[in-house]
Amino acid sequence: MDTPWLNNCNGAISLSFDDGSQAQLDIAIPILDEFGLHGTFYINPRDTSNLEPWRRVGLNGHEIGNHTIQHICTQNFNWDTKKNLETSTLDEIEADVVEAERRLQKLLPEQPDRTFCYPCYQNYVGQGLNRQSYVPIIAKHFPAARGTGETANHPLLTDLHYLTSWVVAGWMKGEDLCAAAETADNQQRWIIFVFHGFQNGPASVWNPAGTYHAGAFSGNEFRKLCDFLANNRHRLWTDTVLNVSQHVINWRKSL
Ligand SMILES: [Zn+2]
Repeated sequence: MDTPWLNNCNGAISLSFDDGSQAQLDIAIPILDEFGLHGTFYINPRDTSNLEPWRRVGLNGHEIGNHTIQHICTQNFNWDTKKNLETSTLDEIEADVVEAERRLQKLLPEQPDRTFCYPCYQNYVGQGLNRQSYVPIIAKHFPAARGTGETANHPLLTDLHYLTSWVVAGWMKGEDLCAAAETADNQQRWIIFVFHGFQNGPASVWNPAGTYHAGAFSGNEFRKLCDFLANNRHRLWTDTVLNVSQHVINWRKSL
């Protein structure tokens, strides 16, 4: 039987990028383009006058994903914001997602389908007895969505509307990510990496007391990963979250 991955590759890799930073435009995208790799960029379309660079990214073959407008997360983060998941309703979350989608469709009508990414990887509203998942809302609007988790995605068993992913920290090295990518081949699964900030120069120094993202990821180290993925494309299929999920959906139907 054919494998679930394009060209009968042994596994799949997606490179995803959250929150639409300038450093992604300046550092990560030129490296992806140099190696002919396509990434998924989950942006928050707040100020529509600033989105033109992302339109060009989308026209260049990368996926522009939906990451909501308001980026609502748990109140436990104690951010200086009135909105949080514990006091939001499913209707409010859906309205935010749908408005983000309307703006993205307007920005990039050439790319009518996209995947979703849960802000802060959190997929619920309310708390305790009243806590409810908003995954079903997302499943109504998108072919797939990315969360987080420890295990790579099994093509048959993973929930396409809460895909697991591995969050990349600034102190990690290109070799670490290549070794992680290798497990997609060994396990015949789909690994989604999550990147946030980028910086030129070497990797950040690991700081156990640092922030969650622990510094921006090094462009030099990112280049090593892209070089590895480009050189191993005959066995590891690297593509957007949308393209891999659509392929998996079709493969499941063929079984
Ligand atoms: Zn985010």
